[in-house]
Amino acid sequence: MDLGTLIREARTFEDWIVELRRTIHRKPELMYEEVETSALVQKTLRELGIPFEAGIAETGVLATLGDSDGPCVALRADMDALPIHEEADVDFRSEVPGKMHACGHDCHTAMLLGAARLLKSRESEIRGTVKLVFQPAEEGGAGGKRMREHGILRAPEVQRIFGLHVWPLADSGEIASRAGTFLAAAASLEIRIQGKGGHAALPHLTIDPVVTSARIISELQTIVSREADPLTPLVISITTVHGGDAHNVIPEEVKLGGTIRTLSSEHMTAVQSRVREVADRIAVANRCQAEVHYPGEDYPPTANDAECWRLAGDIWKDEFGGQTVHTSPPIMGGEDFAFYTEEVPGCFVGLGIHNPDEGCTFSVHHPKFKADESVLPLGSAMHVAYAFRSLEELRAG
Ligand SMILES: [Zn+2]
Ligand SMILES: [Zn+2]
Repeated sequence: MDLGTLIREARTFEDWIVELRRTIHRKPELMYEEVETSALVQKTLRELGIPFEAGIAETGVLATLGDSDGPCVALRADMDALPIHEEADVDFRSEVPGKMHACGHDCHTAMLLGAARLLKSRESEIRGTVKLVFQPAEEGGAGGKRMREHGILRAPEVQRIFGLHVWPLADSGEIASRAGTFLAAAASLEIRIQGKGGHAALPHLTIDPVVTSARIISELQTIVSREADPLTPLVISITTVHGGDAHNVIPEEVKLGGTIRTLSSEHMTAVQSRVREVADRIAVANRCQAEVHYPGEDYPPTANDAECWRLAGDIWKDEFGGQTVHTSPPIMGGEDFAFYTEEVPGCFVGLGIHNPDEGCTFSVHHPKFKADESVLPLGSAMHVAYAFRSLEELRAG
């Protein structure tokens, strides 16, 4: 099944894919609240005559095509949006204040529905099973982990999994990824620094958590610059600082939030323990108390199977040429596709959407982020080509 044929077919219903994407874009829903998005996915699958199970991990959907004999490949999309107020220059802007599809998960869901339509039209040619995974809560809620725990990789056993992410670091018409670790392990972080409040003009009668928090913020950076091997990537970013309400009052406490990124789970564990020590001891030295808390799930690093990335690159090269397939360095972004590749070989690929002619120049997670919609049929076709070629390879053993 060659990519070019699939792209030409997907182009015949490009408007359908784009409309699905825009419908989802207008009504962004945050993690585990993807009720309308999930309903749209289910309605579309029903219209296409594809059986599915819904309500997995709250809003997740698992559709199945093909015959139950033979190998099994899964294709995955995520459905959740971000708490960002959209400022993009598009006429289908988010209708929900403070929420936006700024990571392109609306594109991912629409592309996978496009793939569903392509697969349905050639279902008799599927020799094996193709599972379509529409998951909730990629942005910090570990929706992929809950989908996995529900057993979506079992019965039949998934032998390969594939996921696409719209990729502002590559031009439209290109793909980027790598064999091995592609995306980082990620853990969010909260630190509560407790002091003793009082009049700002009488600091000697207080224990100031603001000054202490400033020291903790600076000192955490020395874990990166003085403790980590300079050739081993590590990021510690403190991204929220909350404390105090008045110019002339020293507050009781300050709360910090942030994230840690590493390229291995072992390094993550070691850094988390050092963050705890550093925060605690600086707080003690300043007569405060620090409580370090790691809320939510830690994401493992996303590691691509070398064979799976080779296959994805080959499919793309055959259609667009060798210069359009980029070997990316590892990226310190986290991605819960990692929960699937922990268990089965797979590949997570960046699908280029950088297109200055269409004003698509902002990065994901930016309020002005805008995806180049002309790549959506390419993504749908790529999913399907990957599934067919994988089933072929797996059958051949
Ligand atoms: Zn994101
Ligand atoms: Zn994303």
